[in-house]
Amino acid sequence: MHTRRNFLQQVAAATIAIPLSSLSSLAAVRARDGKVLRVALMGLGGYASRVAEAMQSCTKAKLTGIVSGTPSKIKDWQNKYGIPEKNCYSYDTFDQIKNNPDIDVVYVTTPNALHHNNVIRAAAAGKHVICEKPMALNAKEGREMIAACRKAGVQLLVGYRMHFEPKTLEVVRMRNSGEFGKILFFQGQCGFRIGDPTQWRLNKALAGGGSLMDIGIYALNGARYMVGAEPVWVTAQETKTDPVKFKEGVDETIQFQLGFPDGTVASCLSTYNMNNLDRFFLNGEKGFAELQPSTGYGPIRGRTHKGELTQPHKTHQTVQMDEMAGILLEGRQPVVPVNGEEALKDLQIIDAIYQAVKTGRRVDLHLG
Ligand code: NDP
Repeated sequence: MHTRRNFLQQVAAATIAIPLSSLSSLAAVRARDGKVLRVALMGLGGYASRVAEAMQSCTKAKLTGIVSGTPSKIKDWQNKYGIPEKNCYSYDTFDQIKNNPDIDVVYVTTPNALHHNNVIRAAAAGKHVICEKPMALNAKEGREMIAACRKAGVQLLVGYRMHFEPKTLEVVRMRNSGEFGKILFFQGQCGFRIGDPTQWRLNKALAGGGSLMDIGIYALNGARYMVGAEPVWVTAQETKTDPVKFKEGVDETIQFQLGFPDGTVASCLSTYNMNNLDRFFLNGEKGFAELQPSTGYGPIRGRTHKGELTQPHKTHQTVQMDEMAGILLEGRQPVVPVNGEEALKDLQIIDAIYQAVKTGRRVDLHLG
C-alpha cells in the first residue's frame, strides 16, 4: 500500500542529496500537517550529538531548536542542521522559548543534577519535555518534576530508548504471552571502565552518585521490564577499589538484589570498573531469554529457548524519537512506559539501593 507514511519514509531516505533549504520546506509541510514533533535539544554534548544525528532519519520528529551554554557550538549546530537564529537559546534566555511556535518539546541532555531545574523551566514555558536518564538525582526531585509538568499541562517523557528496541520488545511479548512460564530469576550486568577522572560523571554534585546513576540504572530498569512486575524489596552491597577516583558518594561498583511479590529475584551488577559487561538473562519455568549486548547502542543480540532473536537493528534514538512523536502528538501508548511516573520508580529504587548500601539492611519498596 502506498501510504503517506511510506512516501515520507522514502523522502527521508533520499534526503542525503537534498539541500538544507528543501529540507526546511519539507519540514514546514509536515509541521502544517500536525504530524512532526519539533524538538529543541538542551545541552549539546556527546549524547545530544548522537540524538541529533539519529533524528536526521526520523519521519515524525525534527530538530528545530537548540539550547546551549557554548556560543561556538550554537554556530556549529546552526550550520550543520540549518537551525535559524530565532530558535537558538542560552541557559539565560531559554525561558523565552515559550513564545516560540516552532518548538513542541525540549529534550534535556545536560548532566544529571541539572535535569530538575531544566525540566521545570521547560514545563513552565509550556513545552513538553523529554529528559535523559536518570530523570533526577532522587525521588523527591522526580516528584517535583512530575508535579510541575502536570501543573503546566505538558507531558514528561524520559529517554528510555530500550523501551522501543525490537529484540527487547520481543522478549517482553513472549513473557506476556506466557512463553517463559512463571518468571523465576533475572540477572542484569551493566558497566564499563570509566576514563577521565575530571569528568562530571565522577563529580557527585553533577552526577548525583556514580555507576548506579549512569549505567546501573539500565539493570534496574531492565529488571522491571524483563520480569514484568514491580519489586517490593532491595538489598545492596558496594565495593570500591579506587577511593581516589571514586570519592565519597561516587559509587564504583554496587551489586543489588530486587525481590518481587511472587518470589522472583533479580540479581544485578553496576560498575565503572569493568568492561564487556552488558548482559540480561531472564529465566522462567518454561524457558529463558538472554540479551548480550542488552542495552548498548546496538545491534542488540539475543536468544531464547526457541532460538536466535532476529528482529532487525534500527538506530535506537531514531526509533525513540519517532515513537515519542507518536506519544506526544497522537496520544499513542508505548508497550513499556516512558513517562515521568516510570522514571520515578527507578529513582525510588535508586534511593533504596543507596540506603541499603549505607545501612547494610534490606529496604522495603512501595513504588508509585
Ligand atoms: P556530556 O558531558 O557529553 O554533555 C553534557 C552537556 O550539557 C555539555 O556538553 C554542555 O552542553 C551541557 N552542560 C550544561 N551545564 C554543564 C555543566 N555544568 N557541566 C557539563 N556540561 C554542562 O554528557 P552526555 O551527553 O554524555 O550526558 C548527558 C545526559 O544524557 C546525562 O544525563 C546522561 O546520563 C544521559 N545519557 C544518556 C544516554 C542514553 O543512552 N540514553 C547515553 C549517554 C548519556 P552546552 O555546552 O551545549 O551547554
